[in-house]
Amino acid sequence: MTGSLAMTLLSLFYSVFLNILFLSKQHIKSHENSLYSILLVSNVIGLLSELACNLIITYVTKDGPLSILINKMLLTYFNVYICIYSLYVVTVCYKKDKESFEKFYLAIQKLFFAIWVIAEFAICAFPVYIFHEGNSVYSYGPSPNVVYILTTLCVLLCIFCLAVNIRNIRHKKYTPILWFVISGFIISAVQKMNPALTLAVPMETFTLLLMYFSIENPDLKLINELNFAKDRADKANKAKTEFLSNMSHEIRTPLNAIVGFSNSLLDDVQNEKAKEDAKYIINASESLLEIVNGILDISKIEANKIEIVENEYNIYKVLDNLVALSKARMGSKQLEFRTNFDLAMPKYLYGDSSRIKQICVNLLTNSIKYTNEGFIEFKVDSVIQGDVCRLIISVEDSGIGIKKEDVDKLFQKFGRLDLEKNISIEGSGLGLAITKRLVEMMNGKIVVQSEYGKGSKFTVAIDQKIVKNPTSTMSVTLPIMKVQKYPHKKILVIDDNKLNLKVAEKVLEPFEVDVTLAASGEEGIEKIVLDNSFDLVLLDDMMPGKTGIETLKELKENLADYKTPTIALTANAISGMKEKYLSEGFDDYLAKPIDREELRKVLRKYLK
Ligand code: ADP
Repeated sequence: MTGSLAMTLLSLFYSVFLNILFLSKQHIKSHENSLYSILLVSNVIGLLSELACNLIITYVTKDGPLSILINKMLLTYFNVYICIYSLYVVTVCYKKDKESFEKFYLAIQKLFFAIWVIAEFAICAFPVYIFHEGNSVYSYGPSPNVVYILTTLCVLLCIFCLAVNIRNIRHKKYTPILWFVISGFIISAVQKMNPALTLAVPMETFTLLLMYFSIENPDLKLINELNFAKDRADKANKAKTEFLSNMSHEIRTPLNAIVGFSNSLLDDVQNEKAKEDAKYIINASESLLEIVNGILDISKIEANKIEIVENEYNIYKVLDNLVALSKARMGSKQLEFRTNFDLAMPKYLYGDSSRIKQICVNLLTNSIKYTNEGFIEFKVDSVIQGDVCRLIISVEDSGIGIKKEDVDKLFQKFGRLDLEKNISIEGSGLGLAITKRLVEMMNGKIVVQSEYGKGSKFTVAIDQKIVKNPTSTMSVTLPIMKVQKYPHKKILVIDDNKLNLKVAEKVLEPFEVDVTLAASGEEGIEKIVLDNSFDLVLLDDMMPGKTGIETLKELKENLADYKTPTIALTANAISGMKEKYLSEGFDDYLAKPIDREELRKVLRKYLK
């Protein structure tokens, strides 16, 4: 008796402590949590009842009404505990998808309530007898027998649920249940031999302690704080992207002017020295543009704002383009440029050709940059499986190579390697970081093999769908003409920046079109309303007052016969912008600084 009393007191201490620990915290709303809370509170009541029972029987009265009442209270506790505990076990074992589980939970909750009511009725109605001799105190008779039978049935139910669902329950969850079942049997056996040794309630306390560690108990305060911090970080990230987008506009506007005027200087001036200076200016501005675009791309990728836009495309055309571009980039470098394309490769594929191009451009540009003599081999193989073509693109060079210890750093942002050798080579260290992320976004793989001092080989594998019946427009290849002139065509250019208007006028000059300029959206609308006979409108987007998007919207709403092809002309050249402008009703998109070749294509397409 003294031993069990000490055990009860100790358990009470633990139970109160657990109650404080669990109930003082905010919890997620779940059946498990609410059942556990009920078990915790009832355990304290049970321990107090047991304590009171022992004290009253020992020191006040053996079988007076008070001791009978307190005994029945203890039996009621057992009744509550075993019913709630069994409900908890069933909940843990059968918790599946939310909808169907809610109905199931409601049904078993009603069932256990009914069992509890019947058992409680029997506990109250049947008599209980108390044995007290020396230090031995225990109760017996029909009322306690109801609790024994109920407990045995419930424990068998728990064993059944556990056995059937053991694979679906996490180890953390079934350990306390297993403990409850095993210790329940042991304590029953011990109590059979020595009924005075009342260990059931302390055992339940210990089970609750074990359960505490298995209950989903995230710290809600911490979660709220984390969510708040995440919100703040998201906002800061958004602000960063917006800042970069605005900065791109600001940098690209003057660059637009620099490239435009340097190009016309190159055409106009006869002085060789001035021509050469103009070339340097163009080169420097193009490098600057590349850096700005790289920073924009990486920040977009990090903000998850880059999408893979899939379309049908002609892979051979893309490769031709890449070869032409690489040869132009090689400039005066005496390198052998080898191509090796698998001619069995299907002509038309479905995927994001502009991203594939971007990946290849990055690899080819690096090979050219980091190879001083020897060769560059651009190889494309294809492996066909069903309607999927795996493109295996490799770019190999006999360049400076990469040190073994540097290979891991290759794909990191701003990771420029071997600077003693590369210091004079321009680069931001962003190209390969962007390349790797783009490849991964297309579920592809990139690998590098390199030998320091001998050369490197970058290989990319990307799956693309094969297009068996390409749409008709794709297969039409426009004849390449030198500089087509459009003397009777009228183009309206709308841009708030006077310098940009001048540049546009200048780049349009060789095409001999009739150019009209407007310095705002409002002025552009006025000009179109007065004379709606323009063949093409180049419309800047980021303008004070009406933006390009608003201007186009107003034109389409107010002028029923406004059908003029309208091209978005913007310095906000973040990837994904083209799709945005097309969805806003523009026919096409031209990034500033206007690339002459792109302009030529647009004019050829819309001024036919
Ligand atoms: P960037 O070329 O602008 O510096 P990248 O991300 O494209 O940035 O490349 C990162 C680094 O990897 C480069 O600075 C260079 O040291 C190394 N590297 C990339 N490609 C090659 C190559 N083909 N040969 C040798 N080194 C290379």
